[in-house]
This record gives sequence, structure tokens and C-alpha cells, in this order.
Amino acid sequence: MRIETDIVRGYKTCGADRTAMDEDCPGYDSVEIDVIREEVHRLFGDAAGVNGVGSAGIPVSNDPWSVLPSHSLIYVKPVNPEDVVCDYCGGPANLSLEARPKYQRLSEQGPDELIRRARADRKLGERQTDAAERQAVALERMAGANSDIDDLRAQVARLTAALDAQNSPLSASDAEPVSQGHPSRRARQKA
Ligand SMILES: [Zn+2]
Repeated sequence: MRIETDIVRGYKTCGADRTAMDEDCPGYDSVEIDVIREEVHRLFGDAAGVNGVGSAGIPVSNDPWSVLPSHSLIYVKPVNPEDVVCDYCGGPANLSLEARPKYQRLSEQGPDELIRRARADRKLGERQTDAAERQAVALERMAGANSDIDDLRAQVARLTAALDAQNSPLSASDAEPVSQGHPSRRARQKA
């Protein structure tokens, strides 16, 4: 295996879910940054060797083919660890060796039509949820008002009962303080 590491000019692009936001993040336009380009070459010897012996029975270390590259993978890694996060929205950022491509427009539909529809669907869902929440709050408020009315009714009933008790002739003659409140009646009784 052979690994080559270089610091090269690369790009950083916001990778956040575009449908979750109303507008595209400013980081959706790629910006140039320094990145680590790490190329890992797998050699024929890495793949073919079993216990140090290649498929032709020749020790891998002596096999001239074993040092030739079989395939390679390129990894793009951040030089600055903070570059894995978008500068604007804090979402994940993509690192690449090329800027995000802008393709030629071939359709009558806008290039972001699917994103636009997904955003519209999400907003509709949010509005429905909002409406349901507002309805629930209004119902709660109404229920509260009803219980207030019930309290008032109970208070009125208590007051009415108390007034009835005060005004009834029985209690008026039995209870001295109440009869004191009606001197004229007492006067009439005496007369
Ligand atoms: Zn972003």
C-alpha cells in the first residue's frame, strides 16, 4: 500500500437538508478552502499475497508485479477541523476537489422544482399543525370560561340562599340581630 498526502485547493459546500429551510443556506454556494487530498494506492501485492506468497507461487516481495498499483482511492479531508461544519447554518458541510456543479437547464421546470414542492408541503403541514394548536388553545380557553361561569353560578346560588335565609320570616323572628335591622316591623308587632 502507498499513501500520498497533499494539501490542495478544494471546496466547501453546505450539505444541510434544503427542504428543511425556507431559503437556501448562503453556504450552498461552494467556497474555496485548503483541503487534504489523501490518495491511497492498493498494490497488486496487497491483494494477491497470502502469507507473503503471490498467486504464481513467488514470494510477493520478489514479484515485480506486486509493487504495481492495482487501484486507488482519493479521500478529501479537512485541514481545519471546523471545515466539516457549515459557516452559516452549522449543518454538515461537504468537502470536494471541485465546486458544486451548475448544470445546463434542459427542463421547463425550474431546477429547484422538487425542493420548492417539498418546502410548500412542509409549510402546509406546519400551517395545519399551527391551526390545530390554535384551536386546542381556544377550546381550552372556552372550557376555562365555562368553569368560571359555573363558579359564578355557584356563588350566585350561595348568595341567593343566604339572602333567602335572611329574609325568611322564621329566621327574622328567631335571630335578634336580624330583627334589629327591621325596627319598623318590631314597632308594628308592639303596636
Ligand atoms: Zn449551511
